[in-house]
Amino acid sequence: MPLATWLAGYIRDVPDHPYPGVLFKDYASLLADPRAFTALVDALADVCRHREATMVVGLEARGFLLGAPVAVRSGLGLAVIRKSGKLPGRAFRRVYELEYGTDEFELQCDALRPKDRVVVVDDVLATGGTALAAASLVSEAGADVVGVAFMLELVALSGRRRLARDLDGVPVDAV
Ligand code: IMP
Repeated sequence: MPLATWLAGYIRDVPDHPYPGVLFKDYASLLADPRAFTALVDALADVCRHREATMVVGLEARGFLLGAPVAVRSGLGLAVIRKSGKLPGRAFRRVYELEYGTDEFELQCDALRPKDRVVVVDDVLATGGTALAAASLVSEAGADVVGVAFMLELVALSGRRRLARDLDGVPVDAV
């Protein structure tokens, strides 16, 4: 069975979570199965290898669940992008749009080296706004975004098209 088909079997649609009208993709049972979780992490680590990444950047909060094991599996370091006010020291900041309202991301100014080749890892690509904010922080830190990698893409929301347009052809992968 193809990897994507197998892993998709672990994902459960939860209607009206966290808001009415949202169909939430719950993948707790994928994380709970060591074979499935390992296969997912390996697939994302393959993306890092193909892109010749030197760092992984994980996005708060669920991007941490994948970014950390992908970094370890890839033999790479991890930098984190967090919601505002949580990181000590100087940080670059980006406001981004959510389905309901806005949020703010930060990346410590010294988290990346200039010319690091970064793969941004998150769990779900929906409209692409979260990943775009993250990519723009990585660029502001002087590093290169060489890939954006997700477990799951909500194709109907066209995030991939938005990323292709706004990230100038940076490859987008969804397992
Ligand atoms: P975007 O900015 O619209 O692409 O939304 C992506 C962000 O929302 C990611 O950081 C996800 O963690 C979160 N997200 C959106 N939809 C879902 C979902 O159905 N399940 C889990 N997370 C989601």
